Amino acid sequence: MAVPQRRISKTRKRLRRTHFKLSVTGLVTCSNCGAMIKAHHVCPNCGYYAGKQVLDKNGKLVSAEQAKKEAASGKKSANK
Ligand SMILES: [Zn+2]
Repeated sequence: MAVPQRRISKTRKRLRRTHFKLSVTGLVTCSNCGAMIKAHHVCPNCGYYAGKQVLDKNGKLVSAEQAKKEAASGKKSANK
């Protein structure tokens, strides 16, 4: 079995480990409210997904008919 030739000093070990860190990945800003949200997830803040409201304020699904009405009334800023 391979054996280290030299002991790694505390400093070298700690210097190496300064690069071991977690990074927050996959966060994007909501196109509607600007909050930081997970990519490809419904915004928990405003209930929008891909520029459309899919959840109301109580967290319930917005029906397809309602969504069409919302899109028709608020489509000025949304471009597709
Ligand atoms: Zn949002």
